[in-house]
This record gives sequence, C-alpha cells and structure tokens, in this order.
Amino acid sequence: MEAIKDFFGSFMLTEMLKGMKLTGKYLFKRKITLRYPQEKTPASPRFRGLHALRRYPNGEERCIACKLCEAVCPAMAITIESEQRADNTRRTTRYDIDLAKCIFCGFCEESCPVDSIVETHLHEYHGEKRGDLYYTKDMLLAIGDRYESEIARRREADAPYR
Ligand code: SF4
Ligand code: SF4
Repeated sequence: MEAIKDFFGSFMLTEMLKGMKLTGKYLFKRKITLRYPQEKTPASPRFRGLHALRRYPNGEERCIACKLCEAVCPAMAITIESEQRADNTRRTTRYDIDLAKCIFCGFCEESCPVDSIVETHLHEYHGEKRGDLYYTKDMLLAIGDRYESEIARRREADAPYR
C-alpha cells in the first residue's frame, strides 16, 4: 500500500509542490539572512574570539605573571615565563598562546585576577600555516592596545552578570 502511495505521490510531484509551498510562504517575508561581510550579526559581550593582553591606563601591563591562566588552560596552549623586576614586581618575559591548540573555552579569561588576558570580539583572522596562529606577548599586547576601548565597553556591559 505504501509503495502505491509513494508511486502516485512521486507521479503527482507532491514533494516538489510541498517545497514550493514552503518557498512561497517565505518569499515576501522579512529576510533573516545577512550579506556577510558587509552586514554582520550582533555579538554578545561574552563572545570569545581572538585573545588580547590589556594594560592599565598608565601603560603598565596588567599581567602579574601569576600563571593561573597557564595552569587552567585545558589545551595547554599558554606558555609563560617570568622574572622579578628591580622594583620587586613580577612580570612576564614570555607570554605565548598557540591558537591552533586553543579551544576558546574562556577559562584563561575567567581565571585572571587582574583582567589581563581577555578574549575579544575579533573573529576575522586567519593563518596560512601553523606558525601564523602562534601569538606572542607583543602581538597580544598590540591587540589589547588597539581594541582597548571596545574591550572595556564589552566588559562593562557584561559586568552586572559576572
Ligand atoms: S580559551 Fe581556553 S583553551 Fe584557549 S588559551 Fe584560554 S584557557 Fe586555553
Ligand atoms: S594573564 Fe592573568 S592569569 Fe595569566 S599570568 Fe597574567 S595575571 Fe595571571
């Protein structure tokens, strides 16, 4: 019985008509697709994109080399080396993130006591070979310097929920 039903169904093009009915239903409705990259969807302040290291307004690096982010990283993507400065503060001499390993879990950001390492809204970056996704301290600080106002704005928007 099912086979006969299927035969007449395909003969009458019912599946195609069903598809056309669905297309017709949405033909004149408001479009929900965007013409990326000219148009972009709004992103949450919690969006976890490219990492950055931040500074205080006086230019001092926030990072105190506590290595919590390195310890908590499940992908072991962070490598930190540090030394004590003449003024007895501790700062990193090396802070690398291998983004080819990173799973963008956000644990590093959550663990940081001084809001130093953050994940930004940036997602339009790429690497053509593995080494291109190895971000050094200078690269991370440069991202932080460039996008500080946007990073601060997003963190402020998210602050009531933290
Ligand atoms: S986002 Fe997660 S995986 Fe990536 S560096 Fe931070 S802790 Fe590691
Ligand atoms: S980025 Fe934050 S958690 Fe990581 S070593 Fe520096 S201060 Fe510690």
